[in-house]
Amino acid sequence: MGVANDGPVEHGYPHLETVRASITALWKRLSYDTVQTFSTSVVPADMAFCDTDDLYLGAQRVARELVRHYRLPDARLVVGFREMQHAANVELAAGPEYFVELNDRFRTHRRDIGAALAHEVMHVYLHRLDLSFPGTRDNEILTDTAATYLGAGWLLLDAYREDGASSQKLGYLTPEEFGYVLAKRSLVFGEDPSVWFTSPQAYTAYVKGMDRARQDEQQPPLTAAGWAGRRRYARDRRHAPGPQPGVPYTFTPDGGGLRVSFPCPTCHQRIRVPVRGRVRARCALCRTVLECDT
Ligand SMILES: [Zn+2]
Ligand SMILES: [Zn+2]
Repeated sequence: MGVANDGPVEHGYPHLETVRASITALWKRLSYDTVQTFSTSVVPADMAFCDTDDLYLGAQRVARELVRHYRLPDARLVVGFREMQHAANVELAAGPEYFVELNDRFRTHRRDIGAALAHEVMHVYLHRLDLSFPGTRDNEILTDTAATYLGAGWLLLDAYREDGASSQKLGYLTPEEFGYVLAKRSLVFGEDPSVWFTSPQAYTAYVKGMDRARQDEQQPPLTAAGWAGRRRYARDRRHAPGPQPGVPYTFTPDGGGLRVSFPCPTCHQRIRVPVRGRVRARCALCRTVLECDT
């Protein structure tokens, strides 16, 4: 895992497509029932690590909590520290023992050990699921997204801090992208993570991410779409099935009529419904009920 330390922190949503593909991949691989078992996040008390705690015992304790949270019953994590370029690294072997190395900097930044381990233990979880994306970059985005969506990644966002001239950020997602995934999670489970933040910058990123996540719920043909979106949709429908660049929906011929496909606002799996006015659909993957005006 990478760490941006005292360097410029990237902002915005440059990885949004991969983040959304990661959320869909998680729902597909885990299924509805398993996703539901992650309805509560790891709590700050279980991740607390202060500078007077023993370094190794404390790191082992936090790793054990994450192993328990991700439900990796027989996995044992052995945590060590060494000088290295990256923030952390995990050796993905056959198990049940996994060796995690943390950068020496965490010896004096103990409160961020939970964040680093939330990412590394998720590598173990995805490795055991045999779920990966091709390419290191996409796979790291999958790992951050999965950690956040399944309740431990708020630690990674909270490790993002800026004060005066210095900044620190862990992981591969931008702060806003972490906020977005966290917001998607809290919309599914009705959980409010904002009370856990110790970093004001993390809180701000969460608020921005929530705005973005709400926009997903307001795209046509969903009835919650705004006036401008609906107008554009009506115009595109008149020209259908021609290409409609820049919009998330696609019209296709269906017998004498049309069908429209669009991403589910919860899991981003594509939904297909006939174009015939008001339609209620249910996403087969995440079971969200979608009110549409097609
Ligand atoms: Zn990683
Ligand atoms: Zn869905």
